Amino acid sequence: MRIGVLALQGAFYEHQVILERLGAEVVQVRLPEHLSGLDGLIIPGGESTTIGKLAVQYGLMEPLRAFGGEHAIWGTCAGAIFLSGDIHRDQPLLELMDITVQRNAFGRQVDSFEIDLDISVLGLGQDGEAPFHAVFIRAPLIDSVHGKARVLATLPDGQIVAAQQDHLLATSFHPELTDDPRFHQYFLKLAGRSAD
Ligand code: GLN
Repeated sequence: MRIGVLALQGAFYEHQVILERLGAEVVQVRLPEHLSGLDGLIIPGGESTTIGKLAVQYGLMEPLRAFGGEHAIWGTCAGAIFLSGDIHRDQPLLELMDITVQRNAFGRQVDSFEIDLDISVLGLGQDGEAPFHAVFIRAPLIDSVHGKARVLATLPDGQIVAAQQDHLLATSFHPELTDDPRFHQYFLKLAGRSAD
């Protein structure tokens, strides 16, 4: 399995380490030609305005949209913002997923926090039943999921923090910053399926 990590800015290396541990071959993507031959792509956390600006500058917007039409893409945090359809302000978005997102939704006091999430909906088998320890850093909230997208995980108060649309995945938190590889395993499954 060959998986790209968009390496324009942000926490791409942490994703690379987990993917390699799971046996995937990892390619750092900075230019459109780096997308060829990939089975899937991760867009990391970081700063969505910077990732968007650089993607425009490097001519990546249309190639990324075309890639997401056929292959698995997973956006974590800033990456989830970049995948979304609308964020109530003007910045470059891929508009691949039927979700709207609110940036920096948790305000200053609770800028960053960690919480256990129920992810049994992922159907990862026995180990999948254990809660997932999720790290949120100046995180966005997914404030609506419509069209073909569906909710994967919520906070205890019902606010949405993970969504999926066919082979596209968005999480407001950072599974690459914990030792738990289950989200990466789930993504590799999606990438395998869309590669068939
Ligand atoms: N606050 C960042 C943004 O709006 C996202 C933070 C993150 O990726 N950890 O893009």
